[in-house]
Amino acid sequence: MPGKNYQNLKEEVWDTGICSGCGACVAVCPADAIIFTRDENGDSPVQTGYCKEVTDNVPCGACYTVCPRTATEEKNRMEKTGLGEYTDIFAAHSGFAVEKRQSGGAVTAILANAIEEGLIDAVVTVTADPWTQKPQSVVITQTEVVIAKAGSRYAWWVPTLAALKSAVVTQKIETIAVVGVPCAVSAARIMKTSDHDLLRPFGRAIRLIVGLFCTETFDYEMLINDKIVREMEIEPWQIAKLDVRGKLIIETTDNAVREIPLDALGDCVRRGCHACGDLTAVDSDISAGSMGSPDGETTLIIRTSAGVGFVDHATETGRLVVRKDACDLKGIIRLSQIKAERIHT
Ligand SMILES: Cc1cc2nc3c(=O)[nH]c(=O)nc-3n(C[C@H](O)[C@H](O)[C@H](O)COP(=O)(O)OP(=O)(O)OC[C@H]3O[C@@H](n4cnc5c(N)ncnc54)[C@H](O)[C@@H]3O)c2cc1C
Ligand code: SF4
Ligand code: SF4
Repeated sequence: MPGKNYQNLKEEVWDTGICSGCGACVAVCPADAIIFTRDENGDSPVQTGYCKEVTDNVPCGACYTVCPRTATEEKNRMEKTGLGEYTDIFAAHSGFAVEKRQSGGAVTAILANAIEEGLIDAVVTVTADPWTQKPQSVVITQTEVVIAKAGSRYAWWVPTLAALKSAVVTQKIETIAVVGVPCAVSAARIMKTSDHDLLRPFGRAIRLIVGLFCTETFDYEMLINDKIVREMEIEPWQIAKLDVRGKLIIETTDNAVREIPLDALGDCVRRGCHACGDLTAVDSDISAGSMGSPDGETTLIIRTSAGVGFVDHATETGRLVVRKDACDLKGIIRLSQIKAERIHT
């Protein structure tokens, strides 16, 4: 986007409170000059001083171009709702044990198969520290680590795509799968389709974009430290699994289950989520959610030829087991309409 730089990003996205925290701007800034800092609104991006374009008059604008929430992308953002375009939808589960899987372990099965069979060299995703539950943006290159790190992270702490810089620029990994919630997926898709010189290396390396359905994410400090540790007196390391199914369900390591109604978590929802109408990650190659499938299965929405290829390969090797007749789309359609109303009313 010639002529637009972080100052425009600040004016249109950071200062208006619609930044999703996806971290794409952090990943692509060639000067490493965008970081997240905590203020009264949670964690938000700031520019730390040097900018190629503003300081030295060298054309850049990578941060502005990659952001799905700028005024330039406004029309696209408003259209990203509903089920999106797809070629197939079905239920699926992993054909091997995935102890920490969130739903059917289908996402882990597809990723593990892709690494094991040499289709990709790395996965960029979000894991969590088991002691603090703090999410981390990471690059994973080993199948056993992908399997060990299955499960959903509902709390937000880091710019989620930040590790892409390490993968593409530092480690020079050439084939990568990105896993993310819809806002991160939209930024990854911009990287893949943009002709901006500084985004092209990212676009070339990203071979698969896996989107997770998402209604909202929660500020880490407010969810884990305020609600769960202080109010419920559950230590982070005692959390075995978090799940959102109409309420937040907390399974603890002593096999107890505690719940928080979603109404009680309104304050913890990240500010940028209120500007998001995309439930199903319409910009992905493959989207995955728990809704619409029986317990123990993942709903997969296949959108692109890349998505078809990765799923077919995992099915052929037996790592992914597909159940074509097990999905019911009514709940997904209803919730995606409710989410779209957030930005259209
Ligand atoms: C914040 C959030 C909200 C969600 N909301 C819904 C919802 O409302 N309805 C619904 O049906 N499904 C929702 N999901 C998706 C659901 O929880 C499962 O992720 C999905 O069903 C896939 O399950 P699986 O067993 O196949 O994945 P698994 O095999 O467990 O693999 C999950 C993969 O996702 C990665 N991952 C986990 N959290 C994140 C994150 N925050 N950012 C990037 N990568 C991550 C993991 O590293 C792992 O590779 C949500 C997920 C998240 C993270
Ligand atoms: S939405 Fe993403 S790319 Fe845009 S400013 Fe926020 S973190 Fe950066
Ligand atoms: S609702 Fe989910 S996809 Fe949308 S901005 Fe929040 S975290 Fe991102």
